[in-house]
Amino acid sequence: MPIPTELVGSLPRPMQLQDAYAAYDEGRITFDELKAEQDTAAEESIKRLEETGETMVTDGEQRESSFATYPITDTLAGTGLADNLAGDGQYFAIFDDGHHRQLPRLTGGPFRYKTFASEFVEKNKAIASKPVKQAVISPSMMMLLYPLEDEIEGYSREQFLDDVCDEVEKDIRQCFAAGAERVSIDFTEGRLANKNDSRNPWTGKDMLQDFIDLNNRVLDRFSPEERKNIGIHTCPGGDCDSVHSKEVPYEQLLTKMFQLNAGYFLIQCASEDDREKVYKLCGENSRDDANGVAQVCFMGVINPLSPEVETAEHVRDELVTAAKYIPVERLGATDDCGFSPFSRDVKPKHGSPDFARDIAMQKIAARIEGARMASEQLGV
Ligand SMILES: [Zn+2]
Repeated sequence: MPIPTELVGSLPRPMQLQDAYAAYDEGRITFDELKAEQDTAAEESIKRLEETGETMVTDGEQRESSFATYPITDTLAGTGLADNLAGDGQYFAIFDDGHHRQLPRLTGGPFRYKTFASEFVEKNKAIASKPVKQAVISPSMMMLLYPLEDEIEGYSREQFLDDVCDEVEKDIRQCFAAGAERVSIDFTEGRLANKNDSRNPWTGKDMLQDFIDLNNRVLDRFSPEERKNIGIHTCPGGDCDSVHSKEVPYEQLLTKMFQLNAGYFLIQCASEDDREKVYKLCGENSRDDANGVAQVCFMGVINPLSPEVETAEHVRDELVTAAKYIPVERLGATDDCGFSPFSRDVKPKHGSPDFARDIAMQKIAARIEGARMASEQLGV
């Protein structure tokens, strides 16, 4: 079988859509008008992805406030926040360029999603002529909505985590029921968990094992056959062309991450200085039997934060090197991250989000052609 490829999920939102989000937050347009702009951008994203030769398409998360907050708020400014949440939660991340992203704060129970990702899958299935995938958020990210130290009166941490697991399971099952072929879980907080950034207290609490155990509580509710198509995405962040945890030694995550009983992993690698070390770590730590499913390592061969377009030959050479360490039947190709996980992102290194969309399509085409060339060279 040729080396499979898969995108993480997001694409930059056109400037017109980003302006519409702002106009909605300011009360200048209605939710229906915002939705019309989302639908236009989603349809264009799917059509353009299909033109690149991408085997599985998404709407580029055009309808989502962000990869992490789509279930609980309509916009990043907090318009349309779900019940029992306030806007002033802990920082999810502080990025290298100094900007930060903040999560809402849970104020009481029960915790419930207001939007499930299957809503997007249903709409995308009606547009796409190719199979559809969907990214969903992890239980471990949702865990950060609960205050770090204090207990909420009348709603214990245990009760909350039970509810989180139920909501995430439902999110994944509904995506499959709506026709998604694959569902990948975004786990960008994995590497960040070892950052020890004093400005962001949760990153100093050694939470990685708790994250893994919580995520496995959900994964273990699925059969091996289902988990074949449930993935995990890891990265050091990717927002406004900046990262949040690239300085955290990757082995701290990669020696533990494959404990997750997922069938495949979308692993940032292209932006690493020592990529061969990453291939080796993935080869050594990924499992050919994770409770009944072989773990496929989709290695990042494209850097969505850089406007420089990788060549197909470069992608080919990276995958051929990766195959020295990872059995080729468990090797795939992906991008280091979504191209724009948050809805408001002007892609500063690219000059504009519209230009960044053009670049993203060129990069995706290079990944697909490079994977084809590597498959040929490796005889698979
Ligand atoms: Zn990412």
